[in-house]
Amino acid sequence: MFETLQDLPQDPILGLMAAYRADSNPHKVDLGVGVYRNDAGATPVLRAVKEAERQLALDEDTKAYLPQMGDPVFNRTIVDLVFSADHAAVTEQRVRSVQTPGGCGALRIGAEVIKRSRPDARVWVSNPTWPNHIPLIGGTGLEFKEYPYYDHASRRIDFDAMLAALQQAQAGDVVLLHGCCHNPSGADLSQDQWREITSLADRIGFIPFIDTAYQGLGEGLQEDAFGMRWMAANLPEVLVASSCSKNFGLYRERTGAIIFVAAQPDQAARTQSQAAHAARQIYSMPPAHGALIAGAILDSDELRATWEAELTEMRDRINGVRRLLVEKLNANRAGVDFDFIQQQRGMFSFLGVTPEQLQQLRKQYGIYMADSTRFNVAGVNSGNIDYLVKSVLEVLSA
Ligand code: PLP
Repeated sequence: MFETLQDLPQDPILGLMAAYRADSNPHKVDLGVGVYRNDAGATPVLRAVKEAERQLALDEDTKAYLPQMGDPVFNRTIVDLVFSADHAAVTEQRVRSVQTPGGCGALRIGAEVIKRSRPDARVWVSNPTWPNHIPLIGGTGLEFKEYPYYDHASRRIDFDAMLAALQQAQAGDVVLLHGCCHNPSGADLSQDQWREITSLADRIGFIPFIDTAYQGLGEGLQEDAFGMRWMAANLPEVLVASSCSKNFGLYRERTGAIIFVAAQPDQAARTQSQAAHAARQIYSMPPAHGALIAGAILDSDELRATWEAELTEMRDRINGVRRLLVEKLNANRAGVDFDFIQQQRGMFSFLGVTPEQLQQLRKQYGIYMADSTRFNVAGVNSGNIDYLVKSVLEVLSA
């Protein structure tokens, strides 16, 4: 059997990591992988997580399987985090969630449910989008359509083109949106733009599927949830894939949830049971550790306050780096206005250099970012920012 299988190429980002590790340049900078880093370049365990883990180690009295839907406290608190406990859809009991292995698991289980309900639904994705959306959702066999999103020339969202494309969507189609901190562009929809897309969804009858992997890392926990909350308040059906990887720093604990907003409570309950059934066919039930931690943090006033302070620290650092980068880059005349970096949000932006300049940054300066020129803003710190700015300016003026 195995002799027939071909070796598959590495994920490009893993290849980039390997090239970075092999580079002997003492000044090398890793702006590739999408994990948060502090100013020392580390991705530490959050204090709130450490404290919740300490308490869990004392209190946990079983390693028996979690319930099919996942941990009930996590499922309740993650819904409150995404929508808030007093959101009409929540109080009307039209929201149900199923704990999943990370945001990736949520995206896949969401797609499995869509496939079960509407096998001919087309899933509209932004151009560009996070590359993993394609295999995670496309693996179910659902068909994709693309809508224009980021315009590389103006370095902002081409909202008119986005709307024009989405006008071609049909009732029952699904439109994948990034809740905040668009990956890879960092360009987020304004509140007015969320409202406009909501009106269009209402008119046409397409269903939003919102991927939220960075809640709290853009403008704030509440601000970053605006689009999801607005859509859930104004449309009968919404799906949300929520990840705790970045905002809780729980990456390897694979913690997330697929959340369904339905028109009626009984429909929400049936949808939840379909999601749990789909999960049963793939991995049975989710892992416990990360969800018990996130649930404990969200359910405790004290731990939540610690976590929110840490999240604010991470967000302020990212936005501070954005400000400083723009200040330093714009102070030197390179013929490029870098203001867009400061206007964008979250861990990523496109640097927007040419493929040749990207190679030069990699080979000559040891600065590693994705081929698309997406760079991890959190990879920039006080120890490498001047080298990075100097290198970029040299490459641009060469
Ligand atoms: N969605 C987006 C846009 C992401 O960037 C990520 C992670 O990088 C995820 C979803 C899922 O993350 P995870 O499965 O690690 O929770």
